Amino acid sequence: MQFGKLKKRILLLGTVAAICLPTNRLLAAGYRTANFVVEAPDPQLAQKIGDAAEQYRHDLAIEWLGEPLPRWSQPCPVTAEVAPNLGAGGATSFVFDRGEVFNWTMTIQGSEERILDSVLPHEVTHTIFASHFRQPLPRWADEGACTTVEHPVERARQHRLLIEFLRTGRGISFPDMFAMKEYPADVLPLYSQGYSLARYLIERGGRQRYIDFVGNGLASSDWPQSLSQHYGINDISKLQTIWLEWVKRGCPAPPASVAAAIPGIQDIARTARGQSPDTLPMNAPTPNRISATAARQSIYVQRAQRTQRETKQN
Ligand SMILES: [Zn+2]
Repeated sequence: MQFGKLKKRILLLGTVAAICLPTNRLLAAGYRTANFVVEAPDPQLAQKIGDAAEQYRHDLAIEWLGEPLPRWSQPCPVTAEVAPNLGAGGATSFVFDRGEVFNWTMTIQGSEERILDSVLPHEVTHTIFASHFRQPLPRWADEGACTTVEHPVERARQHRLLIEFLRTGRGISFPDMFAMKEYPADVLPLYSQGYSLARYLIERGGRQRYIDFVGNGLASSDWPQSLSQHYGINDISKLQTIWLEWVKRGCPAPPASVAAAIPGIQDIARTARGQSPDTLPMNAPTPNRISATAARQSIYVQRAQRTQRETKQN
């Protein structure tokens, strides 16, 4: 560890189908809440987004952590681009330095409906995790968990993408996925697979156990031990086998007795039962044939690079 040398980590977090924000539109109106300053095309939208962000920050912190977050010392600026046909997406960046987190920036875009029901809760969950853990999470665990709070339509889309990736050899082996601290070049499978695994774990233990599992894994760097302690599965490859079997069976909800014992997971469980039974064909990849591929540059990566350039300019 190098003391005396300022080491900043800038996290760039992207989400669903983001494309670069158009730069030729005026962001006309501002609105301030306790923890957010929103810029949006008109005052009504700015207020709607700011109030929703504040509500999500409160409600989701209770769901994940069991209590609301304290007020941030500086509000998080949110820039919202809202248009009916705009692809839904967002990016949140912040700086970790010696156990603190600050310099929040959030950009969100999409239709009003999708911003309010998916992009905003996803991005706000990133800020809750950053405030709680004060260090970067494994990418799969971060993006996966943030996707579980999106609208069922968006989650179903991730599930369909997952099936496609598994069928075409773009799945990521769990040992590789657990070791990833940065986004891989082929980033979309990380989102859909991370979402699916986070969903599997949360349906079986609830959100707060998931947080404890991630927290212990971060503290010890011993993910198999944390997995064993919180989910009773003693190695990561075995988790991959169990998870893949579950996906092949169409992601069945856990027994009602398990679901009923966990507060706050009814919504996910209901979605799981309502989801179409996408099953894998018999020739689906076996766990040891899942391999990471780095075939194409993703829109997420382009966005992250663009944001990084902007951050450096500031
Ligand atoms: Zn994200």
